[in-house]
Amino acid sequence: FKDDQTKIELLKNLVGQNFCPHCCLRLINWQNISLCASPIDVIKMTLQNITGIEFVFNGECKGCFNILPYCTTEQFKQEVKSKIIDSGFEFDEYLLTVNTPPYLIVSDAVLFDNLLKSNLITIPNEITAQTPYGHKKSEKTMKSLLELIMPVKKMAKFILGPWLTPQLGARVSFQTPFKCEIEFFIDCQLRLPEDFYKNLSKFTRRQRNQSIKKQESEAKDNQMLGAEVLKLVHSHQNFQDLNQYLEQAIEFEVKTTLSIYREVVFITGRYLKLQRGIAQTGDMEESDEDEGAQKLDYSVERALEPLFRKHCEFEKFILTASGREDIDVRMMGRGRPFIAQLERAKNAQSRDWQQICEEVNLDLAKDLYIKLDPEASLKFYEKGDNWVMMELHRGSTEKTKNYRAVIYSAEAIENYDLLKDIIELKLQQKTPLRVLHRRPLLTREKIIYSIQFVKELCDNYFVVDIHASAGCYIKEFVHGDFDRTQPNLSYIMKKQLEIIQLDVMGVDCVW
Ligand SMILES: [Zn+2]
Repeated sequence: FKDDQTKIELLKNLVGQNFCPHCCLRLINWQNISLCASPIDVIKMTLQNITGIEFVFNGECKGCFNILPYCTTEQFKQEVKSKIIDSGFEFDEYLLTVNTPPYLIVSDAVLFDNLLKSNLITIPNEITAQTPYGHKKSEKTMKSLLELIMPVKKMAKFILGPWLTPQLGARVSFQTPFKCEIEFFIDCQLRLPEDFYKNLSKFTRRQRNQSIKKQESEAKDNQMLGAEVLKLVHSHQNFQDLNQYLEQAIEFEVKTTLSIYREVVFITGRYLKLQRGIAQTGDMEESDEDEGAQKLDYSVERALEPLFRKHCEFEKFILTASGREDIDVRMMGRGRPFIAQLERAKNAQSRDWQQICEEVNLDLAKDLYIKLDPEASLKFYEKGDNWVMMELHRGSTEKTKNYRAVIYSAEAIENYDLLKDIIELKLQQKTPLRVLHRRPLLTREKIIYSIQFVKELCDNYFVVDIHASAGCYIKEFVHGDFDRTQPNLSYIMKKQLEIIQLDVMGVDCVW
């Protein structure tokens, strides 16, 4: 815009063209949010005062297909507010996002082109476009030119945001895990000419054909075509061609959907498994259990979920731990670090998780099979704290673990001193036969840091403590897995050995 005078000339022109008050403001790129958020009569009055022309609007705005007048209605604002509040989520920050139909890009391009042709606006010598790194000098593409006017969705946020924020009593934050998304649809006959569809990328064309076949709503069609429409607008020279298609869209109706989304919540802790025969999760495929495929009714995950539910409202509970012990292995010591992911948790943020840990343990104490480590307790994290997941993963791949094993030897062992020589022993371990049906065949290098002889139970049974690198298959290290683990304890002791019982005593992880 050359100067204020040209802005006023432009405004006079727009007021006479039956645009809604908010479209007038956005087409002159009015960035003052307080006027945009004012009652519609105040805006009309202001525009009248500036231009000296009486503001007339017949209720059908071809600039925004009535989306903006719809936003200003008390009924719609109240509807948005009560849907957010009734969702039951706890929040003190929120982010409002608005999506509009991609056809609005076409109509904005046409409007912009008309204004250019009537000399009401001129393109500055140098234009800038917003990039993730700030504003940069830009090519004069349609996309960057369209930044000279304000998109409908930004204006919709200018209208709704300042009203909603005090009503919700929450702050606006871009980092918040709580997001409200309003999607506008225009129910109109507007179709782009078939020529344009021919120019779509192969992928989009295929998607579109599929959605036509399945008779999916136009809404979906709109969503999918968004980026493509923008590309077409860029490449298409004569926007006036598009105008006729837009003008066919006379009858229309605004429809909206409101999606409320809360990022997953992480609750961290350590679990102890005091009895054999309990899987970590009920998920058979990933479980290290290899005897039959009966569904496991009792797992650490299944035991914990209902106890968490007593204290917190959420939809889905997923347990992820730092590694996994076999079903017949106990998890002792301070337990295994885990993250309980709570999806769509409504009130996890304000709970006292230390208190919940104590109460969960009281409930668990009734059957004594599983326990939470009271020292690690339970702690709340947002998904954005991604070091939590990284540390858990590091624990299962890079750190060390301590085991206690009861070992059986067919022949009595006379000399346990051979165990003392095992210090930082490097193993080449092929994927064990028992898990080969679901794990790729690889040879992994693992380390046995040390083995401590604990005691002899009788001639053929003895107990040892093993300190090993994470992910080492201890059972296979002891019996050798047909020499697929080399060297192995049977080879070193020159006796065929078998693990009778195994306990994980410690998982090294800052938790
Ligand atoms: Zn409008």
